Amino acid sequence: EGRSIVFASGKGGTGKTTTVANIGVALAQFGKEVILIDADITMANLSLILGMEDIPVTLHDVLAGEAELKDAIYEGPAGVKVIPGGLSLEKVKKARPERLRELIREIGQMGDFILIDAPAGLELTSVTALLIGKELIIVTNPEIAAITDSLKTKLVAEKLGTLPLGAILNRVTSEKTELSKEEIEALLEVPVMGIVPEDPEVKRASAYGVPLVIKNPTSPAAIAYKQIAAKLAGIR
Ligand code: ADP
Ligand code: MG
Repeated sequence: EGRSIVFASGKGGTGKTTTVANIGVALAQFGKEVILIDADITMANLSLILGMEDIPVTLHDVLAGEAELKDAIYEGPAGVKVIPGGLSLEKVKKARPERLRELIREIGQMGDFILIDAPAGLELTSVTALLIGKELIIVTNPEIAAITDSLKTKLVAEKLGTLPLGAILNRVTSEKTELSKEEIEALLEVPVMGIVPEDPEVKRASAYGVPLVIKNPTSPAAIAYKQIAAKLAGIR
């Protein structure tokens, strides 16, 4: 059975979608079977970053019994499989939780890594995303407000039985006003698994609809994402 890891944050815009896309593609480049679930319907931009256009069927249609799982699985770059979540609030309310668990088990049989791009905050859709993953990676910026919000997310995840693996610090500039890795580890009580620098190539790649690790694999953020993926894949 594959590892299911949800990427979440308290605050919006910390870089969850960018992180899921790039770590997912890097894991696939390392030969892993990867499934990405876009659970952030409010701004479903995972498929955009991956350059995918036509996504008529989502996980929600499967949950509602209106489509089969295989129809909600799309081929992304480097062979990653993408499942648009479509977890809108109304739809999550209607979905039968036992059906969701069943589906997650089924998806878990399909790959080595199931990475879930969660919505920010602690609304029902975010909590549902936390429930889908067995493990949690917090994606945060090195600022106090982002960290305190991430701490709340971590505590809720733990209550739900989702294991916090660590945090990824994104958009790091190493200015004096930023919290250090050590300060963040002390506040969040999880290890920092990777530090991704602020990198203008991130926005360029997303404008092209090509993940950074493919578009510009030697850019600083791409290197950081590949290092994190290598750690997750057990490659040193
Ligand atoms: P989230 O999914 O957490 O809302 P996104 O991945 O959509 O965050 O990123 C938010 C914005 O920040 C996007 O415009 C993205 O291009 C930009 N961004 C993310 N990571 C970086 C980075 N390391 N360097 C520069 N810009 C980044
Ligand atoms: Mg996002």
